[in-house]
Amino acid sequence: MATAAVLTGVGTPLELREDVEVEAPRAGEVRLRTGASGVCHSDLSVQNGTIPLPTPIVLGHEGAGIVEEVGEGVTRVAPGDHVVLSFVPNCGDCYFCTRGQGYLCEKSAMQLMGGLLDGTTRFSSAGAPLHQMAMCGTFSSETIVPEISCVKIPDDVPLKVAALIGCGVLTGVGAALNTADIHEGDTVAVLGCGGVGLNVIQAARIAGAAEVVAVDMFDSKLEMAEEFGATRRVKAGTDDPSSVITAATGGRLADTVFEVIGLEATMNQAMDLARQGGEVVLVGVPRMDVFLNLNAALTFLYMAKTVKGCWYGSTNVGEDVPKLLDLYRDGKLKLDELISREIGVGEVNEAFAAMEGGEVARSVINYEAG
Ligand SMILES: [Zn+2]
Ligand SMILES: [Zn+2]
Repeated sequence: MATAAVLTGVGTPLELREDVEVEAPRAGEVRLRTGASGVCHSDLSVQNGTIPLPTPIVLGHEGAGIVEEVGEGVTRVAPGDHVVLSFVPNCGDCYFCTRGQGYLCEKSAMQLMGGLLDGTTRFSSAGAPLHQMAMCGTFSSETIVPEISCVKIPDDVPLKVAALIGCGVLTGVGAALNTADIHEGDTVAVLGCGGVGLNVIQAARIAGAAEVVAVDMFDSKLEMAEEFGATRRVKAGTDDPSSVITAATGGRLADTVFEVIGLEATMNQAMDLARQGGEVVLVGVPRMDVFLNLNAALTFLYMAKTVKGCWYGSTNVGEDVPKLLDLYRDGKLKLDELISREIGVGEVNEAFAAMEGGEVARSVINYEAG
């Protein structure tokens, strides 16, 4: 039996279930003892309906754990291995994986069904099947995941730190290092300074940005943004980001703007804050009914701006996870500092509230703390 936080319907609080049955792993699958799971904004987005997924579902997609059992034919990992979960499986031989675009792996399509690669799920509670977010379901003390969702890591990396890499860190750091084209001395603006935004900020500095303008409505997040490398802060709703960025660039505006919220207003604002020939990277998760309103001639022809979509930080997990761990070990990438609170799996609803209130970078469920 596993203990899991279960979403039974959109808009309802997660329920703690202590009777979750976990089937044995099938071919190509792995049973994982979950070590830790971050509580990410995308978990909240499933709960509030922004990301449509079937219920009842075990949420959680930013996790790390220890392999306990492997199904038939599994070769990437063995029992005892420590792994980070990639919320996009990475098969290694589809069209996208072989072209360096593992974040678009064809095997990820089944995610929308809320099951594993074959569409079915290994969780059940009170005799009824439970879906599983992003083939991870890390709000459960135990889970079954595809082998191709696992990235093996060294045993000495704390699992609560490793967990964060799986979504927020790869997404934010990847947006700056992989998706964007940041040059030494650039001015970068980041709209939204939550868990992902903070990673965009620290990676923009790693990429050489001289100025990073952090924009958020919460003072608490702007303070964290400065700890992660932001050079200027703008309190949204009070201060005008345009005048701050204008001052920072002699009127030219930002070389690169990251939108890490997913709202129509801030996505349009991001377009206005980019300089001529600059780029806008859209990282935030919008609702399905959000559209951009752009003047085609001004934006793309005369101003020659570029908009880049960013899914999972344009990452190839097999290369990027070791790279990020090296940056962490060298003291260049802050990961411990992202953990604002360690919680139990029964406290996810409180963690959602803390996230909405701008109180935390990340709450992390630490299963190892017992
Ligand atoms: Zn693939
Ligand atoms: Zn996430």
